[in-house]
Amino acid sequence: MIRAIRQRLAGKRSADVLVVGAGLAGLYAARELARQGVNVQVLEARDRVGGRTLSHPLLNDTIDLGAQWVGPTQHRVLALARELGIVTCPQAHRGKNVLLLGGQRGTYRGTIPALPLAGLAQLQLAIMQIDRLARTVPLDDPASALRAAEWDALTVGEWLGTKVRRADARAVLRIAVNAIFAAEPEELSFLFFLFYVHSGGGLMSLSEIKRGAQQDRLVGGAQQLSQRMAAQLGERVVLNAPVTAIDYGKQGVTVSTAIGRYHARLAIVAIPPTIAGEINYSPALPRPRQQLTAAMPMGRVIKCLLAYQRPFWRTSGFSGTALCDDGPVRMVFDDSPPTGEHGALVAFILGSAADTWAERPRAERARVVCEQLVRCFGPQAAQPAAYLDQSWASEQWSAGCYVGVLPPGALTRHGDALRAPVGPIIWAGTETAQVWNGYMDGAIESGERAAREALARL
Ligand SMILES: Cc1cc2nc3c(=O)[nH]c(=O)nc-3n(C[C@H](O)[C@H](O)[C@H](O)COP(=O)(O)OP(=O)(O)OC[C@H]3O[C@@H](n4cnc5c(N)ncnc54)[C@H](O)[C@@H]3O)c2cc1C
Repeated sequence: MIRAIRQRLAGKRSADVLVVGAGLAGLYAARELARQGVNVQVLEARDRVGGRTLSHPLLNDTIDLGAQWVGPTQHRVLALARELGIVTCPQAHRGKNVLLLGGQRGTYRGTIPALPLAGLAQLQLAIMQIDRLARTVPLDDPASALRAAEWDALTVGEWLGTKVRRADARAVLRIAVNAIFAAEPEELSFLFFLFYVHSGGGLMSLSEIKRGAQQDRLVGGAQQLSQRMAAQLGERVVLNAPVTAIDYGKQGVTVSTAIGRYHARLAIVAIPPTIAGEINYSPALPRPRQQLTAAMPMGRVIKCLLAYQRPFWRTSGFSGTALCDDGPVRMVFDDSPPTGEHGALVAFILGSAADTWAERPRAERARVVCEQLVRCFGPQAAQPAAYLDQSWASEQWSAGCYVGVLPPGALTRHGDALRAPVGPIIWAGTETAQVWNGYMDGAIESGERAAREALARL
């Protein structure tokens, strides 16, 4: 408060580069610039850094209410964690997984759910076909794919409806889409889906625990990545400073925040496109950029954490992983601390189910989540020692999660505007990444690229 008043009294402040947003992308960009001697200031709306990462104590452990896992091909986030002294531990996955499909409960091992032979064959075929098509979508310019117009006119739901005849195989693929995007297959352009699959190294790489995006957890929580970068940046990071307006032109940018105005030669806006669209720009942004930010909503997720005295499911041979096509929860994982001193499960309410359940009281959510976990793992799931959840769509400065998603038509029409700078404004954030778009790794890639662009222009 005192700091805010002091800043207001001091009037307009100046820097070489202003970074909007102290998530991974913004902090990484700022740190790169500061290392090159650039005078950089980060303006963050919340009273904390880390954006879509948020770590929280649960019993004797720290759990993640936001981003959690890292995978073996996510070289940027792994390198950053190593540099900051954050270690990883493997995600528990040994044992039987549960599949609740069409009201039936089954178990399976490995990644591919056990379906009748014909369903399994069709599922494998569809995965191979999706991966083959995805590889033809250029990561630097998805709209230049040979069949871009055709694919961008389709939703993922429509493609699944025509290409995957069997209901069981289609249901498993729908769960996978739900799990990967926190959105419904009907909301996503098939071209955007293929781009995202290519960006993450294939459908199995996105879905798997071992060798996939869910292989490891960051001990102590993912928010530490941002907290430690912010500590290195010190006074350069200003909290409680939501940016409301950006005036820009040849002379640079003037950025208005709740705590005063800042001037700089360049701005890096490292926030999700839909939130970036709510800032008041003067002059108005070019039409394609406006249309892009209006057409890129976020997925919706409620992440639920349940702590138990013991990881009771392990005693009966279960891994703690479950996939479900009914009930509010779509997927569940074992989230027990590596020491195993207590048990924990993490359950995800996604897409349209998150829209419904975000409106209900937390106690009611806890009840229905427990009921579903009882169906998966038995009666001991009914009485957690603690329950926590976070609805990301209810967060003003995220507006949903995990990532901004594109409906049909948007990528071919306005996709160029995702990264194209506007005068002195450079865009960053995981939504602008080519590799591991939507993930922490992608956020870092975007911060790296934005810092490079800024340095070249300074
Ligand atoms: C529940 C959940 C699970 C996830 N799981 C994983 C996972 O397992 N692995 C993985 O790699 N990724 C995961 N993700 C995605 C990952 O969190 C994001 O890709 C990444 O954190 C995005 O970083 P960012 O810097 O691009 O954006 P953000 O983290 O959104 O940072 C943007 C920052 O800008 C601030 N801001 C917004 N508007 C303004 C404004 N007007 N003025 C000033 N500041 C503003 C925000 O407060 C925020 O701090 C998950 C996300 C969620 C929510």
